[in-house]
Amino acid sequence: MKPPSQTNAIDFDSAKLQRLGFGQQPSLLERPVSLAQLRQQLSLQLQTSLEPQRILGIFFREIQRIVPLDALSYQHQSSDLRLEFGHRGHHSISYSLSHEGEHLGELVFKRNQRFSDQEQGQLESLLATLLYPMRNTLLYRAATQSALRDPLTDTGNRIAMDQTLQREIELSRRHLQPLSLLMLDIDHFKKINDTHGHSAGDDVLKAVAASIKSQLRNVDMVFRYGGEEFLILLSNTSREAAAMVGERLRFAAQSAQYIADGQSIDLTVSLGCSTLLPGESADSLLRRADSALYVAKREGRNRLAMAG
Ligand code: GH3
Ligand code: MG
Ligand code: MG
Repeated sequence: MKPPSQTNAIDFDSAKLQRLGFGQQPSLLERPVSLAQLRQQLSLQLQTSLEPQRILGIFFREIQRIVPLDALSYQHQSSDLRLEFGHRGHHSISYSLSHEGEHLGELVFKRNQRFSDQEQGQLESLLATLLYPMRNTLLYRAATQSALRDPLTDTGNRIAMDQTLQREIELSRRHLQPLSLLMLDIDHFKKINDTHGHSAGDDVLKAVAASIKSQLRNVDMVFRYGGEEFLILLSNTSREAAAMVGERLRFAAQSAQYIADGQSIDLTVSLGCSTLLPGESADSLLRRADSALYVAKREGRNRLAMAG
């Protein structure tokens, strides 16, 4: 029997995309284009990626077929994005991009030579091609980032931790640099919940996460590992240096002011520390930090224990 509907397959290989105008070869040396042609080509090319670095890289390269530039910078504060292309220029024109009330970032075009009125008009016309690609890339970024964050404490979640730990282990091996890990657990946290309620417990969790982050250079390496347990990855950090960081975190957690129902709460944390051994797996590194944490609890809490 004939199937009721037919499915056609189209394989968009690179050659076909090139012919259709999606090409990404450097085109500075190509014959000159009109503004309308360039806008059309750009709107196709800018659809080929969701990475802001790549989209703006194409934009920076292509618009120079009409308006030569020395540099381009882009910033979007709430996404924590800041990108630079080229070097510097004495003259600059800035644009704040927005669409239907949504802020899409600030762009600065820079050049050593002054921009003419005509060039400014051309830049504005070309900027329109960036609107939807930038909106899409920002949405995509927000979606992927929120999938990796713990919303209560604004630290990385377990998925982020697994990915980052794997990457850091590889980097540590490649660059022959030490990698250490701290596992931190709040002491007698259940009592805080029982005495002051779950919502006050949540506030304390947030405050502990903030205290940890305030003590670290790289806040991207703090993860919520379990309910009231955090994991801190310390790249290029030896066992001795990690012990110092651990002590600093312990002291900071103990010294911070925690308020629940208007009452001040005393709180301490315990920590376990492990440092990556040659050939060791992520699981084993985690297990050793966890065992050290168990020792710290057993020996009286409010202390740091080092994995053997
Ligand atoms: P220890 O010193 O041995 O770590 O004692 P503890 O009471 O901190 O340890 P335990 O593991 O017995 O209790 C952890 C508590 O953390 C139990 C759980 O209700 C609470 N908890 C876990 N996640 C959350 C959360 O998101 N919010 C709040 N408020 N409490 C949480
Ligand atoms: Mg605990
Ligand atoms: Mg715990």
